[in-house]
Amino acid sequence: MIISGIQKFTVLDYPDKTACIIFTPGCNFRCGYCHNPEFVLPVEIKKIQHSFFDEEPFFKFLEERKGKLDGVVITGGEPTLQPDLIEFMGRIQEKGFLVKLDSNGARPEILEKAYEAGVLDYVAMDIKTDAENYRQLVGDVGDPEQIKKSIALIMSSGIPYEFRTTIVKELHTPEIIENMAGMISGATHWFGQTFRPGHTLDPKYAAYQPYALSEMEGLREIVARHVDNAVIR
Ligand code: SF4
Repeated sequence: MIISGIQKFTVLDYPDKTACIIFTPGCNFRCGYCHNPEFVLPVEIKKIQHSFFDEEPFFKFLEERKGKLDGVVITGGEPTLQPDLIEFMGRIQEKGFLVKLDSNGARPEILEKAYEAGVLDYVAMDIKTDAENYRQLVGDVGDPEQIKKSIALIMSSGIPYEFRTTIVKELHTPEIIENMAGMISGATHWFGQTFRPGHTLDPKYAAYQPYALSEMEGLREIVARHVDNAVIR
């Protein structure tokens, strides 16, 4: 397991739990609004590669946090690209910690193996847009059929989960949000957040403006027609 970064403490990233966050390098998507291009683009990853570390120092750190942290959040990039992810998550659980996985949902076959292995305690999956616009937003690898498979797996798993969307005014019309919400109809939780310009994978996004809070509320109401708990954060 290659670890590109660690945040030692969070109360925001694992609902109702204290946790640390593990960042993994590399992503198969290319969302223009991505705020972590240094964990996505190979040329950027190369620049910070010298600071990566493997799992042994991390497990030493975890050992010292027994009784102080409830769980570990594994995020990216895209963690399902790591070949030994399932073993890694199993090892975290063996140490007595919960595992939350953040994923873009592009690799349902990995999610399926992880559920079968029983190494997931919580899954957060990004829903980027509706099926028709997936490839345009994330690149050719964004097969909407794979995304739908991941959604079905997550919703039928019996393990707590959330879906979440970064909403970009220029990309997400109310009609697209309606179609997207239809893809997760019957889900327990969806969180929306407005895109904020800044350091992004595609520099053109720096000029994009976020939705106003009142507009976000309108979009939330659309999603709430399909999902039990639709929340803007
Ligand atoms: S899936 Fe996440 S990490 Fe990958 S490019 Fe998109 S926003 Fe960035």
